[in-house]
Amino acid sequence: MKNKSKVVVLGGGLAGLSAAYHLDPAHHDVRIAEKSGSVGGTARSVTLKGFTFDITGHLLHLHYDYTKGLIQKLLAGNLYTCIRKASIFSNGVQTEYPFQANTFGLPKKVISECVEGFKEAVKKYSDPALRSTSLPFADWSLRTFGAGIHKHFMKPYNEKLWQVDLKEMTAEWCGMFVPQPKVGDVVAGSQKRPKKSFGYNATFLYPKKGGIQVLSESIAKGLDVRLNCAADEVLWREKKVRLSNGDVLDYDSLVSTLPLAELLKRMPGLPPEIECLKARLRFTSVLCVNLGVDRSKISDRSWIYFPEKKFPFYRVGFPMNFTPHIVPKGCSSMYVEVGCPAGKVPDFKNPDFLKGIRKGLEEAKILKKSDKILVADYIPIRYAYVVYTPERKAQMEKILKFLNGNSIHSIGRYGAWKYSFMEEAILDGKKTAELISGASPAREPLSPSR
Ligand SMILES: Cc1cc2nc3c(=O)[nH]c(=O)nc-3n(C[C@H](O)[C@H](O)[C@H](O)COP(=O)(O)OP(=O)(O)OC[C@H]3O[C@@H](n4cnc5c(N)ncnc54)[C@H](O)[C@@H]3O)c2cc1C
Repeated sequence: MKNKSKVVVLGGGLAGLSAAYHLDPAHHDVRIAEKSGSVGGTARSVTLKGFTFDITGHLLHLHYDYTKGLIQKLLAGNLYTCIRKASIFSNGVQTEYPFQANTFGLPKKVISECVEGFKEAVKKYSDPALRSTSLPFADWSLRTFGAGIHKHFMKPYNEKLWQVDLKEMTAEWCGMFVPQPKVGDVVAGSQKRPKKSFGYNATFLYPKKGGIQVLSESIAKGLDVRLNCAADEVLWREKKVRLSNGDVLDYDSLVSTLPLAELLKRMPGLPPEIECLKARLRFTSVLCVNLGVDRSKISDRSWIYFPEKKFPFYRVGFPMNFTPHIVPKGCSSMYVEVGCPAGKVPDFKNPDFLKGIRKGLEEAKILKKSDKILVADYIPIRYAYVVYTPERKAQMEKILKFLNGNSIHSIGRYGAWKYSFMEEAILDGKKTAELISGASPAREPLSPSR
C-alpha cells in the first residue's frame, strides 16, 4: 500500500482546521500545531462570569452553498439568523448604516455637503477607470463618494480603523466591504429613514449558545491538534518543522496559517529577495475590550460605528442582540474595538483607559452613570488588519511563488496576508486540501450562490 503523505498544519484557526478537515485520513497523515491553549484563532470565544465574548463579534456571512451546508451540518440546531441593525453615531445622532446612503437625521449642512458632493463626484468620475481600487484610498473615496461623505465619514472612520495615512494604502480591500449606493439611494436616504438595506451582511448567522468557538470546535473534532505547541522553526530545505515542545516533524506539505511575517521570521536562510520583502508587510492592531453590564437592553443595535476622534473606539457591538443565551439574565454585553498602530496597544491596565472608554459610551448614551461594569476583559489582536500598500500585490506574488515552490501553502487571513472573513478561511483550507490531495480545486462552485 502507498505510504500516506505527511501534512503539517501550523495554526488551529479556521483556515488550518478546515485544511485538515478536508484532507482524507486514509491518504494523509495530518498534524496540527497550535500555539495557544484552544482552537479557533481569531474565531474563538471566552466565557467570564456567565458572559460569552468573541474576539470582537464574529458573525457568519455566508455566500457559498458549500459553506452554508457545512455550517448547517456542523452547528445543526445551534444557529440563529440575525437581521443586522447597524448605525453610525456622529454629530450627536445615530444614523442608519451605511453612512453614505443614509444621512437623514444629520445636521442640514452635513446632509447637503454629502449629497451635493456625491452628485459632483458621480458626474466628474463616471468612468469606472477613474475610480480604480488601486488608487490611494483617500483618492478613491473622494472620487467614489465625494467630498462631503469623505470628510464626514470615510476619512475619519478609516483613519481610526487603519491608523495609517489614507494615501499610503489603496482601496483594493474594499470589494464587498464598502457599499457603493446610486445617486437615487443617496438622495432618498437624505430625506427619510431608509427601507432598503445595503452590503454583504444585512442578515447573518450566529451560534445560539457558546459563541463562535463552537464552530471552531466542531471542525476540530477528531483532528490531531496539539495545543500549546508553537512552530518555532521551519527548516524549509529539509522539510521539517521544529515545535516548542522539542518535537521535529517531517512533512511532504506544510500548511501555514501563521501571519505571513511570522512564518518568514521562522524560516532561516531565506533567499535575499524574500528576506528583504518580509520587513515590508504592514499591518495594524486592534484592542478588543469586552464588557459585561448589569442592565438589560442597553442598545437594540447589532453594532455602531464611531467616526469621530473624541471617541477612543471605532466600533461597538452588542453580542446579547445576536443571541440572548450568552449573557446572564438582566445583563448586556459589548465588544469595544480600539484601532492601534502595528503592535502598539494602549496601556489598558491603567484605570484611566477604561474611564476613557466609559466616558465615550456615556456620551453616546449607551451606558448610564448608574450602570455597573461587571466584567472588563482586554484582548490585544496584534495582527488584526493587513494594510494594502501599493506594493502588496507584487510582494505577495513573489513570496507565495517561493513558498509554493517549497511545498508550503500559506493560507487564511494572515497567511495569505489579506482582508477576509471566516467563510473565506474555511474555503481557503478546503481548496488547499484539494491541491495537496490532487483533487480538482474547483469541485465546489467558486462563485457565490447569491
Ligand atoms: C477585529 C476582527 C473582527 C472580525 N470579525 C469577523 C466577522 O464578524 N465575521 C467574519 O466572518 N470574520 C471576521 N473576522 C475575520 C476572521 O477572524 C478571520 O478571517 C478568520 O478567523 C481567520 O482565520 P485564520 O485561520 O486564517 O487565522 P487565525 O484565526 O489567525 O488562525 C491562525 C492560528 O495560528 C496560531 N499561531 C500563530 N502563531 C503560531 C505558531 N508560531 N505556531 C503555531 N500556531 C500559531 C494562532 O494562535 C491562530 O490560532 C474578523 C477579524 C478581526 C481581526
